Amino acid sequence: MSKQNNRVSQVHHSKARDPIIIAHRGACGYLPEHTLAAKALAHAMGADYIEQDVVLTRDGIPIVLHDIHLETTTDVAHRFPDRMRDDNRYYAIDFSLEEIRQLRAHERSQLDSGGVESAVFPDRFPLTPGFLGIPTLAEEIELIAGLDQSRGRSTGLYIELKAPNWHRAQGHDMAIAIIDILEQRGYADRESQVFLQCFDDKALRYLRNDLHCSLPLIQLLGENAWNEDTTVDYDYLQTPEGLDDIATYAAGIGPFLMQIYGGKADSGKPLISDLTANAQARGLQVHPYTFRRDLLPEGVSDFNELLDIFINQAGVDGLFTDFPDLAHRFLRYREELSQ
Ligand code: CA
Repeated sequence: MSKQNNRVSQVHHSKARDPIIIAHRGACGYLPEHTLAAKALAHAMGADYIEQDVVLTRDGIPIVLHDIHLETTTDVAHRFPDRMRDDNRYYAIDFSLEEIRQLRAHERSQLDSGGVESAVFPDRFPLTPGFLGIPTLAEEIELIAGLDQSRGRSTGLYIELKAPNWHRAQGHDMAIAIIDILEQRGYADRESQVFLQCFDDKALRYLRNDLHCSLPLIQLLGENAWNEDTTVDYDYLQTPEGLDDIATYAAGIGPFLMQIYGGKADSGKPLISDLTANAQARGLQVHPYTFRRDLLPEGVSDFNELLDIFINQAGVDGLFTDFPDLAHRFLRYREELSQ
């Protein structure tokens, strides 16, 4: 506990370095995730990095989409009703880019047991049939680079390879497809402006050891209980030995926020795991996900309290948030307090 207090007092007495603000799927607290509108807003809100989740089309083009499926964020079921697979899902990899361009993106939705569709976050942008499309990775980079020029900024890309193993089984090497785009756009050696992130450690090792990618890599950490990829052992990766291993190929970790914050003690103090300190002791940056005003962890009463726990108490190096403006406001307030 005394270590914790030292860290807090350091924050107030010296000028602590601000963590980087990563706009999670763009400013998706305000506009449908991964649309260019959400990315432009994130840029205007001063995000340090803007996130791109990447999947491939049938013709191997990297597009910016969170899921390998299309139905929860687009109107695919209305436009191409006969194109679902036997599991009742529509896969981006089954559609050409030309077909993807006919889709309209909307707020993330869910179906109840009666098949009625509703918004996952009901207070966000309305779940209307959209007028926004799905961008390619190349288009999104062009938007961000253009805004960097017109606004005099240097905004980072934070690209996630989604399900690289699954893409490989479908006959595609997504790491090569993404590196190609970065090379074409002049980003392949901008080490201070691009992170590549993935849940699959094998994909990161492949990027580092086989493709000799020099960009900083982030090992995302999930929970084995999520059963999303049984070839990755997240329990091991969080141990000191696992972190030693990560440090051989990655520049940091992207943990789930509940791997750092473990609820409140009876005294009301937040319980903070040693994951951040253990990772930082190995030179790894720590960028937890996801900070949402409208989905707070248990025991946390508002967004500023959540930011205070992670920034001032746990001392993370960056964070993924749906609300980059609110994270910025918190940092400016913190700066005023320290003066
Ligand atoms: Ca992501």
